[in-house]
Amino acid sequence: MTLPQATKYAIIGAGIHGLSTAFHLAQMLKATGKGSGADILIVDKTAVAAGASGIACGVVRNNYFQPAMRELMAHSVEVWESDPKAYSYHPVGYMQISPECMRADVASIYEQQQAIGYESVFVDGAEASARYMKGLFDDWQAQGITSVLHEKRGGYANNQASMHGLAAKAEAEGVRILPGVEVQSFEFGSNSGAVTALNTNQGRIACETVVVGVGPWVNKIWNLLELPKQITVKANGKVRDDVPMWKFWCLEEGTLGVDPLMHRTNDGRFPPVLHVDTDAPLYSDRDGKLITDKIWGIYYKPDFNFGGVQGGASPYKVDQDPDRVAVDPYGPESPEFVVGEDFIDMWCSALAHCQKRFEGQMPRYKREENSGGLGCFTPDNFPVFDVFRENVYVIADSNHGYKMIGVGKLVAQELVGEKSMLLEPFRFGRFAKGELHPTSHSPFPWS
Ligand SMILES: Cc1cc2nc3c(=O)[nH]c(=O)nc-3n(C[C@H](O)[C@H](O)[C@H](O)COP(=O)(O)OP(=O)(O)OC[C@H]3O[C@@H](n4cnc5c(N)ncnc54)[C@H](O)[C@@H]3O)c2cc1C
Repeated sequence: MTLPQATKYAIIGAGIHGLSTAFHLAQMLKATGKGSGADILIVDKTAVAAGASGIACGVVRNNYFQPAMRELMAHSVEVWESDPKAYSYHPVGYMQISPECMRADVASIYEQQQAIGYESVFVDGAEASARYMKGLFDDWQAQGITSVLHEKRGGYANNQASMHGLAAKAEAEGVRILPGVEVQSFEFGSNSGAVTALNTNQGRIACETVVVGVGPWVNKIWNLLELPKQITVKANGKVRDDVPMWKFWCLEEGTLGVDPLMHRTNDGRFPPVLHVDTDAPLYSDRDGKLITDKIWGIYYKPDFNFGGVQGGASPYKVDQDPDRVAVDPYGPESPEFVVGEDFIDMWCSALAHCQKRFEGQMPRYKREENSGGLGCFTPDNFPVFDVFRENVYVIADSNHGYKMIGVGKLVAQELVGEKSMLLEPFRFGRFAKGELHPTSHSPFPWS
């Protein structure tokens, strides 16, 4: 396809947000008589699913301590459920299994899930939790657990397959997707700050509206848009004017190369995605050494796509100036941001801590496949969905976003002129106003 000289809507990035926005926008333009998919162009410097969406573990859950995140996730789960085949979505459910320091937080999540009609079960107390877990897995042995939240909806989707399914749906609506087109700079209007054109490695594209869905590359695009590197944040009654807008964390995930069927429930079904946090000491399943006596957490699921039991642990902060972090080459290709021996020892030992069937399985970890990847986070670790420079809609999900397939639908709704209450708590202005999202006791920056 040749590079068009102009488009009404230019979407940068063919990940979950760019593709979902394009597909839903095409439908809404047609329904409102305002246009069609032919008005939308997606450019991607590599290809569909080349970013975080293409390597994500793919977990879809509602479990968030922040009410605004829960409501948004409930909306996204509906979108996943609307076409499970195309989205390669497996609605096996999700479990948050927690220690005492998280019990009150998770109990409140459960109460609010009931209030919004999101089906879940809450099991309270150490004995009841052990009984519930052994009812599902007779080899359950995790220590320090005092509550279980079992979400009956949610589950996971296959990363690459879901992105290609979404791309096919967008293209069927007339959207054009151009791989190998990198946005290198923007042209701004002379009488306004609006973007009037994208300058790419393939040429110039004039545009009326821009949507940015570039995942971990957001810091780079933010700089090209000449938006502030440091911002004002009001938190705990204090105001700071020098808070870096972006920071990176490295996500650690991997696969135990066992038969995925070895991880089934007592009655032979595919289990929910399990997320276990505990403050019980964790000892190495390799040599018995203490790995940590601080709170730790893992998540895992059987997954034929990854060829084993796949999952991850808490990410670590990348302590570098965000402008110097090497985002490319991304994901498994990165020489710097892939998992190492510490992760393998920790994650495999944690699996063995939780279920006897994983004891002694560490040698089967898939060392031959690099895994892990960067995420770019905002000052409060929650998304920013907002319009900058008058006509640039930035979807910066702070690495929460594979599960957020519904965000593109809400952004499309806003682009055709209807404000979304679900997106309102994620505006950029919340930082200066001090309207930050509450934080939980989870060891993860995204819970
Ligand atoms: C290892 C890992 C596991 C994860 N697991 C989960 C999970 O289980 N559940 C969950 O909900 N979230 C998960 N996440 C987070 C989630 O994957 C991301 O938040 C989400 O995929 C981001 O989607 P996106 O559309 O914003 O960006 P991406 O999917 O990263 O897509 C951005 C695209 O933009 C393109 N691009 C970048 N710069 C330019 C440019 N200048 N010009 C043109 N194109 C450009 C890239 O090539 C890329 O294709 C995980 C993340 C990682 C790294």
